[in-house]
Amino acid sequence: MRLSDKVALITGAASGIGRAASLLFAQNGAAVIAVDVDDTSGEETVALIRQQGGQASYFHADVASPTGSQEMIEHAEATFGKLQILFNNAGIMLGEDADAISTEEAIWDRTMEVNLKGVFLGCKFGIPALQRAGGGSVINTASFVAILGAATPQIAYTASKGGVLAMTRELAIIHARQNIRVNALCPGPLRTKMLMDYLDTEEKRQRRLVHVPMGRFGEASEMAQAAIFLASDESSYITGADFSVDGGLTAAYVTPDEPTPL
Ligand code: NAD
Repeated sequence: MRLSDKVALITGAASGIGRAASLLFAQNGAAVIAVDVDDTSGEETVALIRQQGGQASYFHADVASPTGSQEMIEHAEATFGKLQILFNNAGIMLGEDADAISTEEAIWDRTMEVNLKGVFLGCKFGIPALQRAGGGSVINTASFVAILGAATPQIAYTASKGGVLAMTRELAIIHARQNIRVNALCPGPLRTKMLMDYLDTEEKRQRRLVHVPMGRFGEASEMAQAAIFLASDESSYITGADFSVDGGLTAAYVTPDEPTPL
């Protein structure tokens, strides 16, 4: 199996990408620490893993909290003896996040705390655990908005994801000779709760799809497939990458049904 004998910690494991990755990693032999603030759905992820014969443990932590981040790593090592895969995936997109003029400081601050500081804290406490295990793989969930400006402004979210991508590159270099790889997963627009809550009418959804060459939203399971590749030894020469999984979005100047530009 692709992740035999590995221990993986996944944040945001109660929903979307985090749940899909938890199930897939466990199916492929990893013992999974599922971290979230939504305890009911987080425990459900663990129950689903156990039903399919896998090993998992739920841990409640707010990734923005230094104590929570430290304790989740301690829980992983105490429960399964080591940690080799750290998937910093939890993130928020707040409805009141808009352009620079109208976005309140409180929205900026909370978005940064969860999306950017949360990844920093995961690495701060998690990378020493990977070092103790002799190496491993860190995957940080960024976004296509770390690479391209979005037409719908979400200034705090976009800036936070740009920070995740920049931090990922630097971490990759710092730890490259310690058998620790660090990559950013950059999803395109997905049919998960986060985006569907935000694009709450069919018109808004179709407006977003105009930019996606494949003409559809991505699925959480498709992100999990990319994440397992980055987590496994199959990607052993890949570090510091912005790994776009976006239906062609970041490659597009025009989409297939638009007229070709002159
Ligand atoms: P989701 O809302 O389905 O899942 C996010 C999970 O993170 C939830 O279970 C939530 O409870 C948890 N979470 C939120 N704040 C937390 C905190 N402070 N501490 C611990 N857990 C917390 O969303 P998703 O689409 O699966 O998003 C996962 C990641 O992918 C996020 O980082 C998001 O920014 C990123 N992303 C999503 C899209 C998209 O279109 N959905 C696109 C690009 C990037």
